[in-house]
Amino acid sequence: MQKQGRHNWVVLVPCPFQGHITPMLQLGHALHSKGFSIVVAHTKFNSPNSSNHPDFVFLPIPDNFSHQGNPFEIITALNANSKEPFMECLAQFMEKHKPDDRVSCIISDIALNFLDDVTKDLNVQSIVLSTNNASFNLALSGIPRLHAQGLIPVQDSTLQDLVPELHPLRFKDIPVSSFATLEEFLEKLRKSKRSSSAVVWNTMELLEQRSLAQLQQHDQCPFFIIGPLHKIVPSCSTSLLKEESSCISWLDNQAPNSVIYVSLGSTAFMDEKALVEMAWGLANSHQPFLWVIRPGSVRGSQWIELLPEKFTEQIGDRGCIVKWAPQKEVLAHKAVGGFWSHCGWNSTLESICEGVPVICWPCFGDQKVNARYLSTVWGIGLELEHEAERGEIERAVKRLLVDKEGKEIRRRAIELKERTEVSTREGGSSFNSLNALVEHILSF
Ligand code: UDP
Repeated sequence: MQKQGRHNWVVLVPCPFQGHITPMLQLGHALHSKGFSIVVAHTKFNSPNSSNHPDFVFLPIPDNFSHQGNPFEIITALNANSKEPFMECLAQFMEKHKPDDRVSCIISDIALNFLDDVTKDLNVQSIVLSTNNASFNLALSGIPRLHAQGLIPVQDSTLQDLVPELHPLRFKDIPVSSFATLEEFLEKLRKSKRSSSAVVWNTMELLEQRSLAQLQQHDQCPFFIIGPLHKIVPSCSTSLLKEESSCISWLDNQAPNSVIYVSLGSTAFMDEKALVEMAWGLANSHQPFLWVIRPGSVRGSQWIELLPEKFTEQIGDRGCIVKWAPQKEVLAHKAVGGFWSHCGWNSTLESICEGVPVICWPCFGDQKVNARYLSTVWGIGLELEHEAERGEIERAVKRLLVDKEGKEIRRRAIELKERTEVSTREGGSSFNSLNALVEHILSF
């Protein structure tokens, strides 16, 4: 594909959050294995660990935005203030590599809409990677219609109702609290899709065929559906936090399918009340548990000092609490029988791929859509209906790990895992779609 010493560069621009950085780097490894050279243009905020990817070039871009606020606010600030610094760094990179090398394209996270103009100005093709799934994107695209019909803002009385044209989603699953803040973002999202030459999806046809087909009716550019990316590429570490591998030795001492693994991902926060209810729910279930509590994720505390003393005495060795786990390894461990998850898309895919059923406790954004699909479409999840409440948690853990109902859900999860394995094998849909993406990039 490239002459000795010459590079065919693909520039990756991840959105600076764990759940976005991971699939972007995995896509980079997939393309690198096909002969492309990879440069990662990244913010200093949450910058990826370059030493884990020695084959890539890392291009830090000066941050011009505030790191305060929730992820949506940070991404909005990044989009509003990052065009110039990115433009300058990428132009310098391209200039330096002229005339021998070529930059084939820029692949950016779908949430980074300021890059539309950058790619136009640099006269280079662009592709977007959707790190969320198709069903969430479909729900987003339906929001203006629901708003025009007066169905949004959602009334308390309609929260449980099914959303017209978006079944099986209920109004409570729709990812919007304020249409005004979302409107501009949605318009830019549509523009991003219009100006890019393709959309890459980290999902599988077999999971989302209907949503993908519906989206494709409106989007002109081709879709490349090449997930789950973590199964397409050999394992590579993409963690921003240090993984505590000691929990694997703890898992080694537990009975098969007995452990509930608990993690709410990289951005969710909780209050002290929720922490205490979670703790007693786990303790009262009498099942072993591996619980990730991110430092700072409990408001008003550093780490686990707000856990009741009695809880710590009572659980002894039955519980293992870590700051950050090697999650994919944990989910693949035979001792893990269930995942109590916030249902981020990466966690959802990782659980599906290991045949681990899920207790769904979504917090915000796409998580509610993912939870709904886990429980009703793929049939491998139990939804927690309320704020953290110890009795409900205890019952959900027992339903999944002890009761007959849990065995049936696990059987479905294993069946789904086996079906997903076919997608990434030679000749499978994701395998073929990756090759088609390579051809697409080479055609520029
Ligand atoms: N993760 C991890 N260790 C943990 C918790 C999470 O490695 O202790 C990883 C997990 O494997 C997943 C990512 O962090 O790849 C979280 O992404 P997801 O989309 O599930 O949720 P987000 O963090 O974006 O809310």
